[in-house]
Amino acid sequence: MTRRCFSPSPIGTIRPAGSGAEHRLPKFSRRGFLGAVAAMIGGCRALHERKLPLADQPQAEYDQLVIHSTLELPSQHRLLEELRLLRTDLLQTLALRASNEPIHVYLFETEQKFDEFMRSSHPNFPLRRAFFVESDTRLSVFAFWGDRVAEDLRHETSHGYLHSVMRNIPLWLDEGIAEYFEVPRGTGGLNLPHGQQLLTMLMTQGWRPNMARLESLTAVGEMRQEDYAESWAWVHWLLHTEPERRILLQQFLQSIRSQAVYLPLSAAVKSGTPDAEHKLCDHLFALCSTK
Ligand SMILES: [Zn+2]
Repeated sequence: MTRRCFSPSPIGTIRPAGSGAEHRLPKFSRRGFLGAVAAMIGGCRALHERKLPLADQPQAEYDQLVIHSTLELPSQHRLLEELRLLRTDLLQTLALRASNEPIHVYLFETEQKFDEFMRSSHPNFPLRRAFFVESDTRLSVFAFWGDRVAEDLRHETSHGYLHSVMRNIPLWLDEGIAEYFEVPRGTGGLNLPHGQQLLTMLMTQGWRPNMARLESLTAVGEMRQEDYAESWAWVHWLLHTEPERRILLQQFLQSIRSQAVYLPLSAAVKSGTPDAEHKLCDHLFALCSTK
């Protein structure tokens, strides 16, 4: 499966340091294959300019999550409870402080209703499974109740939690973290299809990991499926090998929150682990080759 994220403004645009909703640029993350990058980028607009579905009557609130649904939901829904717990998982894992900024989650009963809304609100977008949308004033997730709604919501809500506490996270790391948290709780962030894809590419296509190359990707249309997989792999490696690597990632995220300018993560990784690419490959073999 391929995921793509889109931003109408270049990721490299200078933005104020710090966190919070003020001065937020519109940013779009979507799941599914992209066929029309230029058309999409040209068609993005801040959501507050548009009429949102069910905006006046949220069905439920789960901490930061404000749920709007065309479907009647039980008061204690297992998936929504999992999304609530995802907040703690993500913040604790990455050592980030919580935000109270609402994340509006719009759930459509059917794919048809979802598509109809997206077609009317973003007519230049191709039809896909789910969105995360960041505007000047609002964080929103859009999805429909399909076979992969749990994975989609975990992925897009992860973007929401992350963007509620920081604005200028590098594109590849944003996606790597979302890919890490999209798998069910209790699986340790193991995104097995990604790991197996990378191992296959490693053994048959001469693929080699390169974090600096990922850092050079500043537009979502540049990211290919294997870039999402590699982004996940680096995040998993940083979080699940040496404690100092987890701390390195946490410190990097803190530097993003507090500084307008920061050193690339690849430089810090290289200084601590000069053969990081080899170590990452070893990690993938240990993690995925026997499963
Ligand atoms: Zn994403």
